[in-house]
Amino acid sequence: SGPSENHEFQAETRKLLDIVARSLYSEKEVFIRELISNSSDALEKLRYFQLNDENIEDRDLPLEIHIKTDENKKTFTIQDTGIGMKKEELLENLGTIARSGSKAFLDTVENSSDAGKNIIGQFGVGFYSSFMVGTKVDVYSKCMEPGSKAYKWTSDGTGTYDLSEAEGVQRGTKIVIHLRGESSEYCVESYALWMMEPKEVTEDMHEEFYRFIANVYDKPRYSIHYKTDAPLNIRALFYVPEYKPTLFDMSRETDSSLQLYSRKVMIMARTNMILPKWLRFVKGVVDSEDIPLNLSRELLQDSSLIRKLQQVLTNRLIKFFQDQAKKDPVRYDQFYEDYGLFFREGIVTSPEQETRENISRLLRFESSKLPAGERTKTSPYMEAMHKKDAEVLFLYESYDELVLMNLGQFDRKTLSGVENDLVDNVGDSNTVDEKDTTSLSQADADTLMNWLKSTLTNRVHKVKITNRLSSHPCVISVQEMGSARHFLRTTFADNH
Ligand code: ADP
Ligand code: MG
Repeated sequence: SGPSENHEFQAETRKLLDIVARSLYSEKEVFIRELISNSSDALEKLRYFQLNDENIEDRDLPLEIHIKTDENKKTFTIQDTGIGMKKEELLENLGTIARSGSKAFLDTVENSSDAGKNIIGQFGVGFYSSFMVGTKVDVYSKCMEPGSKAYKWTSDGTGTYDLSEAEGVQRGTKIVIHLRGESSEYCVESYALWMMEPKEVTEDMHEEFYRFIANVYDKPRYSIHYKTDAPLNIRALFYVPEYKPTLFDMSRETDSSLQLYSRKVMIMARTNMILPKWLRFVKGVVDSEDIPLNLSRELLQDSSLIRKLQQVLTNRLIKFFQDQAKKDPVRYDQFYEDYGLFFREGIVTSPEQETRENISRLLRFESSKLPAGERTKTSPYMEAMHKKDAEVLFLYESYDELVLMNLGQFDRKTLSGVENDLVDNVGDSNTVDEKDTTSLSQADADTLMNWLKSTLTNRVHKVKITNRLSSHPCVISVQEMGSARHFLRTTFADNH
């Protein structure tokens, strides 16, 4: 490596580092979250350049984050293959305080008496949080621009830092933290909660791990610890957040925040391959010994192993939600209200009927067969269905009809729209029931039909006599996607 330049931290940064290093803040592991979030930002940025087909250093390096610990050297290392930093970027990003969170933190600390040591976690001081646990931090970085030089940035977090050229650095950033004595726990691998016996993992441990993995501050509403050795070796921790999904969570563009490990080594920080898209609201970690460590992203994508893993995990999660619905229906109903949209998406997007029916068991509808479910009994549709003794589900969401049409059948029962059913079963005889004394005579009925047909020409498809109604004179119906009319109308209205 080349000669080393010594630089002073900007005064504000020095102040911040001083507070961070002396911090008594108990949740020191926030540094891991900060560093992972920087690395995944760096990968996201690289992915963006890749999409635009720009020229990139070490083009074939897969986008990955690795965390390594060394108990002998007492180091914690995180390495990513993201965009990396140029010399000026290292000076700018790791020498000054650019981020608003750090500034706000400093302001608050300066204006409070107890030096605000317990509020670091609230603000998040980004990269500098590594000095909460480290006596020295080395940053190796190589920018994604082809032919870039690599640099080593190193500091003990007091007044200054050194910068020099470095050899043998691959694209991206590697950060090595030399841990303080009292923080040496972070170099011990037994960190891995998911390898423990489910019984040994306490609710607090779940909570803490969930916050770390999902990068949020609430609690998990469901925690699932899944361990199996057949048909695959799987150690998984899944969480459903307490918070309601945001628009961002609901977007199909949003990546899953699931992490894939093999034998405690991270293979991918955000992977969409382990669970189907519709389960993207599930946060967590999947570790499988059966996945080779050096498998590339492309190979993973079309591996039958991954397909198998996906299938096993999907079935496990569906089963878990079904069990929850039985165990605590009130809690489940709240969950369904918040997250039910994902199940509907699951039905529409899953190719196998078995999976679709499995998911559909998680749906909840008001039904005519339930005591409280006869709200619309007075409608002519209900009258016809009642005569037939058919069970009617009430769909209040416009897209639900699309979902059920897509499902087609449930428990070997055919699902069909009430309007559809009416039209199909009305028959073509056009004769009145002569025994029914309340009915019009055949002659009167024919006159009425002819009058309706001539008056409504081109505005109706057919006018027919039906014996399926007794207390309603008529029903207007459409042939297909009855209640989806509303859906179509809103979609078109939104688009134009
Ligand atoms: P923030 O992430 O809020 O910007 P940080 O202190 O965490 O603040 O990081 C400061 C800056 O340093 C980032 O904005 C980014 O430009 C740069 N940086 C930090 N870590 C990395 C990394 N692993 N790869 C590339 N750039 C990084
Ligand atoms: Mg950051």
